[in-house]
Amino acid sequence: MGKIIDVHCHLEFMKHPDKVIKEAKTKMDAIVTSCAAIKHRELTLSFVKKNPGFVFATLGLSPSEVPNLTMGEINDYVEFIRLNKKNIVGIGEVGLDYHWIKNKEQQKETKFVFEIFIGLANELHLPIVIHSRNAMADVFKSLENARTDVVLHCFSGSPADLKEAIERKYWISLATIVCKSHTRQRLIGRIPLENLLLETDSPWLDPFSSDLVNRPWNISFTADLIASRLGMLTEEVLLQTTKNAIKVFNMGQAIRKDI
Ligand SMILES: [Zn+2]
Repeated sequence: MGKIIDVHCHLEFMKHPDKVIKEAKTKMDAIVTSCAAIKHRELTLSFVKKNPGFVFATLGLSPSEVPNLTMGEINDYVEFIRLNKKNIVGIGEVGLDYHWIKNKEQQKETKFVFEIFIGLANELHLPIVIHSRNAMADVFKSLENARTDVVLHCFSGSPADLKEAIERKYWISLATIVCKSHTRQRLIGRIPLENLLLETDSPWLDPFSSDLVNRPWNISFTADLIASRLGMLTEEVLLQTTKNAIKVFNMGQAIRKDI
């Protein structure tokens, strides 16, 4: 297996994260772990501090967390992210989720908070990682204010959404779930390799199981699938997506070469 980067996983939800990191170091260039809840911020940063040059992090807030928080708590968290700018490579995941949040007032609230994080990404000049479920139209509208790189994490939009995203030069991140989702497989040929990122969203979305056993290096299965669909070599797909990952998260100088 060539060297690879998983641009989106959740080490904080893995049972033995240190074991996973140890194994990942033998197979991968880097891992980007995504913090989606205030209570996980310190744990997420501890993975970065213990594994410099290998584990990178983004700090964000899942839309489903928002209704349980006060504005004071959200503002404190935004300040925490500002103070930790040098320890992170992006803002996210943040976004909108109309699958879980159906109440109109709460949807408005999450949109308001989402836009605060778009402003924060602009201010800190960091890419923003987007969670969108059944909400692409509103996500696109809010993102009109984004002046930074946009990563659509675990992309699940329609072909029309994909077209719009590519026109806006957003990064499309395909999760390992694509290995078992025929709807998502139809998107493969429509994504230019220059816009493509690979992620697992592990421990969720295992390519073969419904248990929480997905691991960062499983992006190689997605790379195999894409390569076979496009008539390319897996190595070629991984070479481009790894290059893309380094570019969007500006990790070129930081990745350790000696691991
Ligand atoms: Zn995630």
